Amino acid sequence: MTTRATQHVETVVIGGGQAGLAMGYYLAQHDHSFVILDAGSRVGDAWRDRWDSLRLFIPAGLSSLPGMPFPAGNAYFPTKDEMADYLESYADQFDLPVQLDTRVESLTRNGDRYVLDADTQRITADRVVVATGPYHYPNIPGFAPKLAPSITHLHSSEYRNPDQLPEGDVLVVGAGNSGAEIAIELAVDRRVWLSGPDTGHLPKWDADDLPRWLFWFDGRIFRWLFSDLLTVDTWLGRKLKARGQKGGDPLIRLTPDDLEQAGVERVPRVEGVVDGAPRLDDGRRLDVDTVIWATGFRPDFSWIEVPGLSCEADGSPIHDRGVVEDEPGLYFLGLPFQRSLLSATLVGVGADVRYLAARIRTRADAGETE
Ligand code: FAD
Repeated sequence: MTTRATQHVETVVIGGGQAGLAMGYYLAQHDHSFVILDAGSRVGDAWRDRWDSLRLFIPAGLSSLPGMPFPAGNAYFPTKDEMADYLESYADQFDLPVQLDTRVESLTRNGDRYVLDADTQRITADRVVVATGPYHYPNIPGFAPKLAPSITHLHSSEYRNPDQLPEGDVLVVGAGNSGAEIAIELAVDRRVWLSGPDTGHLPKWDADDLPRWLFWFDGRIFRWLFSDLLTVDTWLGRKLKARGQKGGDPLIRLTPDDLEQAGVERVPRVEGVVDGAPRLDDGRRLDVDTVIWATGFRPDFSWIEVPGLSCEADGSPIHDRGVVEDEPGLYFLGLPFQRSLLSATLVGVGADVRYLAARIRTRADAGETE
């Protein structure tokens, strides 16, 4: 039996990515004890671990966390490592109490306290903010293991660069942002198919011709449009949410024309495997050397066992703007469409954090658990 050292803090934030750190920024302004626990060994690793050529699809001028502007021109699209370093300096700048190498294995409740177990450590808390990100397990189709052993296949979260792949043709499955970007990168000197329906696209933006209004009033107009207008509280927001759940998010910064110009061939969905090769919806069988599953992620909150939390069929928690109504003191942050289209991005997380921080502060000051 593991013996665990126990300590008590008022608020525990689980996850020290952009969402958890932004929460820490607000918690630090009040006289409450808190800690941010993160499974990684360096702040920013969620970004560092993505593919080498990745750049943010939203420019720096709109991608800052509360209290510290991203150190670059407004129209610059940061690399993923620059974003990782920014998050690391953010934690340093505000002296946030991030405890690394600490994966919370279970979250339960004992009376009016939460109990978090992580390796040899037990922490009790009055309230917990779960900010473990929207991407837990790669969502790979069940038929993937039937692919012939000669076909290399990997999820987009394992993709780093073209040199990592064997020579030859590639099928990228999933035509959202990740799939489209990886397909274009690989099409430079290979035959590449991109499978899946068109998810639509936002108007194209390049660093050279970004409309200036985007950055007016510190980006407040843009934030208002995407973080206040396209929310679960508006008809249009709900429509976009339903569409995203069904068919993937629209392409940002890329369009179907870019895919065509790069020589990427669009094909229908992959619906199974025949004789070891992927088979498309139209019955075609593709002989490829590599398959990249850009098929998204599944949430995993099964390690949270508290009586007032229920989950949707896909495992995502039921909440109202991140507040779990039947579980006083439990909050979620950084979920896809937590409130707005951009809740799970750098642009949208700030509004959600402010809302939760205000709620926590009011209740904590009143001496209530929630
Ligand atoms: P994460 O960054 O995933 O951080 C979660 C943290 O929780 C991690 O550090 C992890 O170690 C920790 N953790 C998880 N489980 C536990 C546990 N049980 N115990 C302790 N710690 C735990 N957004 C933008 O705004 N602009 C972009 O350009 C953009 N590009 C993207 C490109 C890709 C390929 C992807 C996948 C996403 C992109 N996003 C972008 C979306 C989003 O901003 C990022 O996914 C971002 O990393 C989410 O931040 P987060 O803090 O919510 O979660």
